Amino acid sequence: MLLFFTLTCLPTFGQASLPLVINTWGFKNATAAAWTVLQSGGSALDAVEKGCGRCQREQCGGSVGYGGSPDENGETTLDAMIMNGNTMEVGAVADLKRIKNAIGVARAVMERTEHTMLVGESASVFAENMGFAAEDLTTAKSLEIFTQWLKGSCQPNYRKNVSPDPSKLCHPYKPLAELRPKERRLSANIRSHDTIGMIAFDRYGHLAVGTSTNGLNHKVPGRVGDSPIAGAGGYADASAGAAAATGDGDVMMRFLPSYLAVELMRAGTDPSAACETAISRIKRHYAHFFGAIICANATGHYGAACNKVPGLLQFHYMVADGGSDAPLLKSVDCF
Ligand code: ASP
Repeated sequence: MLLFFTLTCLPTFGQASLPLVINTWGFKNATAAAWTVLQSGGSALDAVEKGCGRCQREQCGGSVGYGGSPDENGETTLDAMIMNGNTMEVGAVADLKRIKNAIGVARAVMERTEHTMLVGESASVFAENMGFAAEDLTTAKSLEIFTQWLKGSCQPNYRKNVSPDPSKLCHPYKPLAELRPKERRLSANIRSHDTIGMIAFDRYGHLAVGTSTNGLNHKVPGRVGDSPIAGAGGYADASAGAAAATGDGDVMMRFLPSYLAVELMRAGTDPSAACETAISRIKRHYAHFFGAIICANATGHYGAACNKVPGLLQFHYMVADGGSDAPLLKSVDCF
């Protein structure tokens, strides 16, 4: 099958024919991988797992999969989530160490436990027991990012109201007596963003959403972003629609933007407007946050929205459906 890749700046919303794949950013190989699953009669869950899995292996944007976003210890850790919009089952992993296929482990959490999320070292042990290979997630690139950061006295970082131990290299930090406001956002200055968030509708009317990311450069060890949190990084309910978010997860997860967008679509709001409202709700409190969201309703209408900041004037996302039979790059102007 010949897949082609087309840039269209308009429309900012669309009507797709089902089946449908839509995902954040221009990760077209991920879209193509998911679309191939749907075309061959596969399920929405399989499509999302394959699509996000492709991005993990390709290290999309450097911020999906292994070898990206080293934390303050230089370690890459992964967050991922998958949600079945028909059964409302969710599987998620956060702060996953040493395992490359985070979305695969998330699906195993959903299908092989009664839980919703496993975290950290225990999630890795679970993954190994489920047959996932344990590997070092460090690469020459992530080591270089980490080394440069150490050379710069661990600046910038996500700490506030602490002081480093002068006799050691940055760690351990001690709390300062006085709390002072810090001008966020490190994440708006450092280009370490790009979660894949993917929505898929299959030909049987099933809906799924998935996310996968390695989070943020220099995050405090143990930090978990929005991506593995149902309602924040993604949400799907076949009776209403689905949404997936990307950006500054520390801020965005406080507003559950994916849940909000889906509930707005349930109430009849069109997907573009639902996405815009979810972004506006965050803007009210964090005018300069870095973030975007994609939305699709139960009939396959879709849209996207993003917050306009210096590093993000336009947001790109991918769509594949029966209309084009190939991944199309769409874009929306941020507001
Ligand atoms: N939302 C992700 C996180 O905060 C990162 C991103 O999408 O840029 O972990």
